Amino acid sequence: MLTGKVAVVTGASRGIGKSVALELAGRGVRIVASARNAELLDALVAEITAAGGEAVAVVGDVSVAADADRLIAQAVETFGQVDILVNNAGITRDGLLLRMKDEDWDAVLDTNLKGAFLCIRAAAKVMTRKRSGRIINISSVIGEMGGAGQVNYSASKAGLLGLTKSTALELARRNITVNAITPGFIVTDMTDVVSDKAREALIAQIPLGRLGEVEDIAHSVAFLASDQAAYITGQVLGINGGMYM
Ligand code: NAP
Repeated sequence: MLTGKVAVVTGASRGIGKSVALELAGRGVRIVASARNAELLDALVAEITAAGGEAVAVVGDVSVAADADRLIAQAVETFGQVDILVNNAGITRDGLLLRMKDEDWDAVLDTNLKGAFLCIRAAAKVMTRKRSGRIINISSVIGEMGGAGQVNYSASKAGLLGLTKSTALELARRNITVNAITPGFIVTDMTDVVSDKAREALIAQIPLGRLGEVEDIAHSVAFLASDQAAYITGQVLGINGGMYM
């Protein structure tokens, strides 16, 4: 039963994170929605509240330690606990290796990998006290198979898999599970930048013949957060239409 649990969802203002927040809220989870865009977060909170759910917005940048600490502290202050942490905030700054700027490397690693570490470190303190918790990290198929023009993004998402497994080992005795999801190409703002021609080429590589929808990811997050997934930890769940097996 997920009813009454508290989930912190990073990158909840748009795309996959917003869908995860709505999916969990629909199952009775109290949502702490975080991102940098206050207006979009407020709209999400209003949508959840209008549907009879409970949610609060916490504006912040996951790559800043003080913001990550404040995010978890506000979750505890508002709802008394953190049962589920979904590390979903992520960015791309694509470019070829030889032209990759230091700042593009740093921005992607800081948001996608360090951000997850900071939120996990803060949330784990609360979860270990309660001897229960679920941590779900949104990595990427690009972290598994690599991507030309994406050395920074691929490294950050592969790093997230190592972070997932090491954290799973450290926290297992505290009854905290830690898993990663590796989405393939999902229809969001992140993939909207792809040209029609490139999109057709992408679809040709996907055995199921389509891009994924945000709900394809949100349903699996809800499963990994549920009691049914209690014996699953340190795992990587690929949701990619079969493009990488
Ligand atoms: P999106 O539509 O671009 O949304 C990204 C979210 O992350 C936004 O809510 C954004 O909010 C937030 N965010 C970015 N930087 C942040 C920061 N420093 N601090 C806090 N929040 C931050 O992307 P998406 O497609 O939904 O992707 C969500 C996750 O799935 C990412 O980790 C992405 O790498 C992963 N993923 C996506 C795909 C795909 O095909 N779409 C595939 C594989 C993996 P603000 O801008 O308001 O801060």
